[in-house]
Amino acid sequence: MSAETRLIKARGARIELTQVRKEYADSVAVDDVSLVIEPGEFMTLLGPSGSGKTTTLNIIAGFTTATSGTLTIGGRQMQDLPPHRRDIGMVFQHYALFPHMTVAENVAFPLKQRKVPRARRAEMVEAALETVRLTGYGHRRPRELSGGQQQRVALARAVVYEPSVLLMDEPLGALDKKLRESLQMEIKRVHQEVGSTFVFVTHDQDEALVLSDRIAVFDDGGIQQVGTASELYERPRSLFVAEFLGESCTVRGHVEPDGDDSFLRVGDRTVRVAGRAAPGRAAAVVVRPEHVRVQQAEAPVAAGVNALPARVTQEIYLGSGRKLELTLPDGTVLLSREQADRLSGVRHGDEVTVVWDVERGVLLDDPTGTTRPSTSGDRVPVPTVKESGR
Ligand code: ADP
Ligand code: MG
Repeated sequence: MSAETRLIKARGARIELTQVRKEYADSVAVDDVSLVIEPGEFMTLLGPSGSGKTTTLNIIAGFTTATSGTLTIGGRQMQDLPPHRRDIGMVFQHYALFPHMTVAENVAFPLKQRKVPRARRAEMVEAALETVRLTGYGHRRPRELSGGQQQRVALARAVVYEPSVLLMDEPLGALDKKLRESLQMEIKRVHQEVGSTFVFVTHDQDEALVLSDRIAVFDDGGIQQVGTASELYERPRSLFVAEFLGESCTVRGHVEPDGDDSFLRVGDRTVRVAGRAAPGRAAAVVVRPEHVRVQQAEAPVAAGVNALPARVTQEIYLGSGRKLELTLPDGTVLLSREQADRLSGVRHGDEVTVVWDVERGVLLDDPTGTTRPSTSGDRVPVPTVKESGR
């Protein structure tokens, strides 16, 4: 690409939502959301369907007016500014290209609206098409392109005027898996090239993990946790986040404090965890499958590990190794991921011991469980569950 046709690196704007709320007649779509998105950051709003992601994005775009709260972009209050004056680009799930216009005309459209002179327009269209790797497609009509190509045209049209913010609402939702994965890499590259602040909505956790600098996990109109992929994966602060991102093993029980740590009463067994919680409280220990190991039932258990009896109820070949499904006597299902070069000898149907290092477990509140009286005699109330000390 020549220096003359390269898009000028846009300066990403800081976006700040403070106590933003959107109420409809019979529901609260966004429930007092506060979020700061840094200049040039790739932020993903991740959550199940109906959790308020699109509404939040539309409030940033200006298509939806918040019931209360404030929004600033680049330090400016946005309340009374219409969408076209917010310096944002937008890409939706359905490409929304103009079918009667060529690709070049589609991409030029926002420039025409902004009264960019014709010659400059042609250069910018060329550069935008180059950014999305569609050089030479300018004369085609949208119907002459594949779904993935159409979505790249939509992306070119959104970045062509070098907006400081780019908003995308499930832009890859209509594409098949393979194409989705290749376009994820394209979007990541375009983000690095153009330098705008990207806000990306998806319900697909793998997509969020691949793309994002940080992820805001939405549930029921609110944000549960904001962090990098590894922060959310390694140190989830709620059971919802732990179970929404990646695979997890959850053992539920009741807390018994023990010095600075606790143990969890799980039926007639106990599981040790780092951190403290209120005695008798319903809690869960979450462990990632790569940290769960199995050994023969009769093998001795090492110090510093938790051990529970289980049966191997499923063996799944993964190419890079295998995954075992392990069922505890109470029906709880745990997973263990084993690398091909470190396979345990156990087979489907075997009675085994499931083990994990105490510090691999994250202690979290179990909102579905009920508190019951502590049996340890330690009644000092400790109000909230602490993160495990990792
Ligand atoms: P998501 O994008 O996470 O799937 P939305 O932001 O679209 O979620 O919706 C959040 C909630 O707000 C949902 O319960 C939805 O039904 C409700 N909602 C969204 N738009 C409207 C509307 N225009 N009128 C009434 N309720 C709405
Ligand atoms: Mg949505």
